[in-house]
Amino acid sequence: MTPVTKPYLPDINKLKSYIDEIYKSEHLTNSGPLLKKLEARLADYLGVKHVICVANGSLALQVAYKALELEGEVITTPFSFAATTSTLQWEKLTPVFCDIDNKTYNIDNNLIDKYITNNTSAILPVHVFGNPCNVSEIESIAKKNGLKVIYDAAHAFGVEYKGESVLKYGDISTLSFHATKLFHTVEGGALITECDVLEKKIRELINFGIIDSNSFLNSGTNAKMNEFEAAMGLCVLDDIEEIKVTRNKIIRLYKNNLKDILQFQEINEYSSELSSYIPIVFESEESLLNVKLKLEENEIYPRRYFYPSLNEIYTEDTNCIESSSLSKKILCLPLFFELKENDVNKICKIIKEVICD
Ligand SMILES: *Cc1c(COP(=O)(O)O)cnc(C)c1O
Repeated sequence: MTPVTKPYLPDINKLKSYIDEIYKSEHLTNSGPLLKKLEARLADYLGVKHVICVANGSLALQVAYKALELEGEVITTPFSFAATTSTLQWEKLTPVFCDIDNKTYNIDNNLIDKYITNNTSAILPVHVFGNPCNVSEIESIAKKNGLKVIYDAAHAFGVEYKGESVLKYGDISTLSFHATKLFHTVEGGALITECDVLEKKIRELINFGIIDSNSFLNSGTNAKMNEFEAAMGLCVLDDIEEIKVTRNKIIRLYKNNLKDILQFQEINEYSSELSSYIPIVFESEESLLNVKLKLEENEIYPRRYFYPSLNEIYTEDTNCIESSSLSKKILCLPLFFELKENDVNKICKIIKEVICD
């Protein structure tokens, strides 16, 4: 059977040698040597100032909200994974959904203004499937209105915008290193910031708010990444270029096969190549369901990603017409390191047969 994704498993002997190191150091967690090494290598690889690794991408978002002391309403996108919004709810912040652009699938920056109220504290856009948002426009809206910006960049590992990391934008960007993501540490995530003051505060927040032996922040939690996860990260990072090249080839093969019959996401002209997902858009939900059924009969399991539109889960709000419409028509196809050219061709053949039938 062919799943939508499979975690990348690095060389086991390399992982074992890191585990030997952990046994020797007897340092299992709390800013251990492997974690420090991983953070330094990630900052270098991504081309950013600070990488603070945490236990998962959801906690990365929650810690970001705390670090920026958000209150009240946060303007966000309904076209994302549930965690973008559920973390706001968890922190007692009110998500305000702004509709998306139906070509880029990102928050429609032309609509953000109309959702800003006296209670708005931040904008939380997502680089959907890694596609960079209109970052300069969002920055100017935020500046004009005194708002913070957090990018949920869970899909944007290694993505560049105008030749530099897209993670440099906003006050904080967050990553997920979950096993199914492009780069992973089994479970994990990170906060990225260019600001030294925020970095220090984030490190305190993720370690119970401990500042020193006498003082605490009152908003701390435990969001630390442990040494075993860091070891996995170091192994996967060694292979990341090969992983990207392989996945990019698969994505190009899908696109060549399907370009005449389906729509693809419009990628920001300043973006580097995206390696995380291969979303395709059908003319109707009916057409999507027919294709999905036929693929499943052949033991191929694509995923409706993202479905449903988050405004439909978290609010009574039915105003996000573009997001609701796209959610019903979009499907993510299988994409992982070991996927073979033959499998891709077979998947495309089935899709074509159903659509052109
Ligand atoms: C995966 C994901 C998250 C959550 O990350 P976890 O590490 O699974 O907690 C948040 N936002 C988006 C857009 C994601 O895809």
